[in-house]
Amino acid sequence: MTDAVVVGGGLSGLVAARHLADAGIDVTLLERESEVGGRVRSHREDEFVFDRGFQVLFPQYPAVARELDLDALDLRRFKPGATLVRPHERTTLSDPLRDPKAFTATAFNRDVTLGDKLRTLRLRRELGRKSVEELDRADDTSIEEYLTSRGFSERFRTRFAAPFYGGITLDRSLSTSAFVFEYTFKMLTQGPAAVPAGGMGEISDQLARFAREAGTTIETKTTVEAVNPAGESSADGAVVETAAETIEADAVVVATDAPTARELTGVTSIPTAARGCVTQYFSLPRSQHFAGADRLFLNVADDRPNQVSVLSAVAPGYAPEESQLLSATFLGAQSATDDELAEEVRAALASWFPENRFEELELCRTDRIPFAQLEQPPGFTREWPDVNAPEGAVYLAGEYTRWSSIQGALESGRDAASAVQGELTRGESREGDV
Ligand SMILES: Cc1cc2nc3c(=O)[nH]c(=O)nc-3n(C[C@H](O)[C@H](O)[C@H](O)COP(=O)(O)OP(=O)(O)OC[C@H]3O[C@@H](n4cnc5c(N)ncnc54)[C@H](O)[C@@H]3O)c2cc1C
Repeated sequence: MTDAVVVGGGLSGLVAARHLADAGIDVTLLERESEVGGRVRSHREDEFVFDRGFQVLFPQYPAVARELDLDALDLRRFKPGATLVRPHERTTLSDPLRDPKAFTATAFNRDVTLGDKLRTLRLRRELGRKSVEELDRADDTSIEEYLTSRGFSERFRTRFAAPFYGGITLDRSLSTSAFVFEYTFKMLTQGPAAVPAGGMGEISDQLARFAREAGTTIETKTTVEAVNPAGESSADGAVVETAAETIEADAVVVATDAPTARELTGVTSIPTAARGCVTQYFSLPRSQHFAGADRLFLNVADDRPNQVSVLSAVAPGYAPEESQLLSATFLGAQSATDDELAEEVRAALASWFPENRFEELELCRTDRIPFAQLEQPPGFTREWPDVNAPEGAVYLAGEYTRWSSIQGALESGRDAASAVQGELTRGESREGDV
């Protein structure tokens, strides 16, 4: 009998497997795809690195600092804040405390008011004093209501918060929970947004290596079709079915995406409403230098696209020497064709950077990701399930037990492993008593 089976090899499953194996438990991880990593993967082609959708890592996330070897990931950091772009105009909004060189540009930026700048500093101080646990409050509201109640101007909300947090939550209407705003705002005042030098997929590759080194057996191209507790008590174990075999285990951790986890376990509090995006990647000769390319470009005028990043300016390894790699993200599903979207990006870039030429802008890849993150309405943290929610010896890991982020996924993997370990240890001591 296998001690534990982990179903799904995204970040949460890999972390759960590693901690279980570290505890001396015999772990098999079953992954449906041909490689692990779930939503955090990179595709390498012609010396370009294409992450699966534009994503960044906040190294300050507590679980990131705990679970990853950040030195080995050789992080490349974005400059704080963003460049706000609209036709024929660009302004810089940065964090003067972490980016003194941008102090003057930020101080004179008229996209937000002086009051907004003072309110941002006050919020920074206030959240800096709070632990992340204290951010989860019963009186949660939407980001829009939160910013309004704190006196932030409409200019701040529409010109900065909507595109910036729209990019983070894939929801430019700011209807997402203020918990997500406070958590990410706190992290971004304490450190950078970054990508590993070799692509976001290196995060998953590292976690897979840690899991294997701890003793986990990883089987890819294996879809789990059913998970059932073998009895009412968690001491009875559980049964996993794939097309090829039936596996009995002392414990099963379901670490799939949320809809599959709901189907496999029947836990109805697992959320399934998702937010998607479309990310396009473009190459452009390096000779077309962009001013301020190591900051994110946020579209103030509209959401077509919401944001652009010159990834190779931040992480040169994302493109071959003679090229640069740009990503442009549209929020939500898009009915336009890849070429139509690419034309919109070209027109937007040409209007933001009239001094540059874009004839040689070449579309390399389009990632349409209907399920990128879960919807996180106000109060969601009180409604999503716990890792112990299923019956018997079945446990949950996955962002949907915390919040939709790399932090949430990593944290949930560790929590699920602790829950299994606690139960297996209790089982052993029960056997010892007999
Ligand atoms: C475009 C995009 C942008 C994002 N931006 C950010 C960001 O900037 N910062 C941030 O913190 N987070 C971001 N996220 C969210 C973050 O990537 C996710 O929250 C996190 O990766 C979820 O990990 P997970 O392990 O919970 O789930 P998943 O990554 O979905 O892993 C689930 C795994 O289970 C496997 N599986 C499913 N069904 C089965 C089955 N029946 N049998 C076997 N295996 C199965 C899947 O193949 C997958 O590998 C973004 C996500 C996307 C897609």
